[in-house]
Amino acid sequence: MLVSAKEMLDKAKAGHYAVGQFNINNLEWTKAILLTAQENNSPVILGVSEGAGKYMCGYKTVVGMVNGMLEELNITVPVALHLDHGSYEGCLKCIEAGFSSIMFDGSHYPIEENIAKTKELVAIVKEKGMSLEAEVGAIGGEEDGVIGAGECADPNECKMIADLGIDFLAAGIGNIHGKYPENWQGLSFDTLDAIQKLTGDMPLVLHGGTGIPADMIKKAIDLGVSKINVNTECQLAFAAATREYIEAGKDLQGKGFDPRKVLAPGFDAIKATVKDKMELFGSVNKA
Ligand SMILES: [Zn+2]
Repeated sequence: MLVSAKEMLDKAKAGHYAVGQFNINNLEWTKAILLTAQENNSPVILGVSEGAGKYMCGYKTVVGMVNGMLEELNITVPVALHLDHGSYEGCLKCIEAGFSSIMFDGSHYPIEENIAKTKELVAIVKEKGMSLEAEVGAIGGEEDGVIGAGECADPNECKMIADLGIDFLAAGIGNIHGKYPENWQGLSFDTLDAIQKLTGDMPLVLHGGTGIPADMIKKAIDLGVSKINVNTECQLAFAAATREYIEAGKDLQGKGFDPRKVLAPGFDAIKATVKDKMELFGSVNKA
């Protein structure tokens, strides 16, 4: 059964580790992440962007697939199904469809409007026993066509949003979605520290986890990050493994064209990537 992400992230915050959010794109992605979480006895959050939700034929299809897998694969570790960077309307759809957690990304609204809409969603989500992530300060890079400038959030605005009754908070601290450019300045630990001091026990979320050096990840966890989002890294691993299979001509040998064979190396690559991240984040054996 899907669970809210609140309890797993409160535990992570108290235990000084982080839970990974891994975004899903299809059946193989979902199965790879769930099996890896179970094998490593780790809690896990499955992230679904609005674009990926559409690609997978809508949120109801996603909920049906994930719930089916939890049962058929005997998954017993805590699993949350979470809308990633949701619009207000997207959040309402996911609540209706049976997600267990949502992120409302109101970072592009003026702070007053972000607060008003977040408040409305807090009330709905509380009643359903779901968890809610809010965002302050746009996160750089591109997420489903939404381009953020990569700013650092204002710690006082973070405190205002954190006080609304949300469960965890994403704040821009110089992180970027996708691949990091050569001239990236690194994470702003001063900003993170200031946000952490004002928001206290609130679990903080680090988006754009792909390519952040391990020592920065560890320091971010020390400073209060309890959820780290990984998306691009699984995509790169899947693509590289698939390319290798095709370039080796394996699809031309015997029944190598069978989709279950074509997709197998990419599936294994996602599993290896997720395991690496769970070890780095410290969530292994924390289920
Ligand atoms: Zn993000």
